[in-house]
Amino acid sequence: MEAAAVIGQGSDPKDCYLFLFSCADRVRKATMAKNCHNDYKMKFTMEEEFPDLSLHNNHMAKVVNKELYAKLRDKSTPSGFTLDDCIQTGVDNPGHPFIMTVGCVAGDEESYEVFKDLFDPIISDRHGGYKPTDKHKTDLNFENLKGGDDLDPNYVLSSRVRTGRSIKGYTLPPHNSRGERRAVEKMSIEALNSLDGEFKGKYYPLKDMSDKEQDQLIADHFLFDKPVSPLLLAAGMARDWPDGRGIWHNDNKTFLVWVNEEDHLRVISMQKGGNMKEVFRRFCVGLKKIEEVFKKHKHGFMWNEHLGYVLTCPSNLGTGLRGGVHVKLEKLSTHPKFEEILTRLRLQKRGTGGVDTASVGGTFDISNADRLGSSEVQQVQLVVDGVKLMVEMEKKLEKGGNIDDMIPAQK
Ligand code: ADP
Ligand code: MG
Repeated sequence: MEAAAVIGQGSDPKDCYLFLFSCADRVRKATMAKNCHNDYKMKFTMEEEFPDLSLHNNHMAKVVNKELYAKLRDKSTPSGFTLDDCIQTGVDNPGHPFIMTVGCVAGDEESYEVFKDLFDPIISDRHGGYKPTDKHKTDLNFENLKGGDDLDPNYVLSSRVRTGRSIKGYTLPPHNSRGERRAVEKMSIEALNSLDGEFKGKYYPLKDMSDKEQDQLIADHFLFDKPVSPLLLAAGMARDWPDGRGIWHNDNKTFLVWVNEEDHLRVISMQKGGNMKEVFRRFCVGLKKIEEVFKKHKHGFMWNEHLGYVLTCPSNLGTGLRGGVHVKLEKLSTHPKFEEILTRLRLQKRGTGGVDTASVGGTFDISNADRLGSSEVQQVQLVVDGVKLMVEMEKKLEKGGNIDDMIPAQK
């Protein structure tokens, strides 16, 4: 009726087309309430759809069996994220050469609730037995950290603390649309550009960067890698790359925010040398400022008492914090008890080029292994104390000494 009236009035045909398009769009949205592709898949039996996990070694593959798959496969979150969407990255990546991967992602805040039967055991397995009834602690008061300003710079080359934040009401990077991603980018730029003092900085969209500029920022450890990680690719987080992605940093490049990589926001504080105390101070102060600006614009971060900060990868739930140093441990890293020492100190090792790299020449990225169930302060404290001890061990080994009595007892 409305369309006929508009057409009948002899208005510009372009307006009529636009009107018809908008009607069609409304019909499309009304019929999109259900996840059509997931419904279509129900034509096949559970057995026909069940993924081949026979060669897998990740947390997801330990949990997903036919019973669980049958129970969850027809469910979807309000934004349409399904069980298959959650686990695709772990199906396509049976294992990882350096770390035990989680093998699944969340597509939105509700994923952790709708697919609780999948996520709860994975969270428990990954986070030292964390139970569905457990409550997480947050402590971003940097003054509660003891020491940390004197890690020996002859061994500790750089210090860094990062976390992720997700903006409430938007789906997460494995699932978000171009429009949503661009909206997250826009509001992030507005919020970050309002910071001042030591946090005054500028946003650099990936789209406007040359390959050379990007490579330099990656080599200097400031920018996330190009979308080459098979984990990122299979999780759907590299779609439309580089659209909507970028890096914001302060003038000194000591406070940086990645936009729309694995999480909506990745907030990073870093500097050369071993002053983790200062890195953590800047991290806490800057993060608080960012949260205040987002809240002022009615965009809170996803958080709840049980999971802490809700992020894309279940390994990052809780604090989302990875506090780490690049540290030279040439002797200790060849010691037969190196792995055991790391485990006992609740620390994790990576290569210095990021999660997909191995160490070169005895220099490692050493960081906290846990993110859920203990606070930001507690996790950075473990890193500070653990790295200090490891550097002492390294010095003793250099002098030809024995470190057996320095190895901490099993907890
Ligand atoms: P994350 O996911 O925690 O940000 P990645 O392992 O993906 O960490 O690494 C991202 C980038 O951050 C890499 O370039 C890596 O070299 C750099 N990086 C990590 N820790 C440190 C550190 N302590 N000092 C300097 N650069 C670091
Ligand atoms: Mg990463």
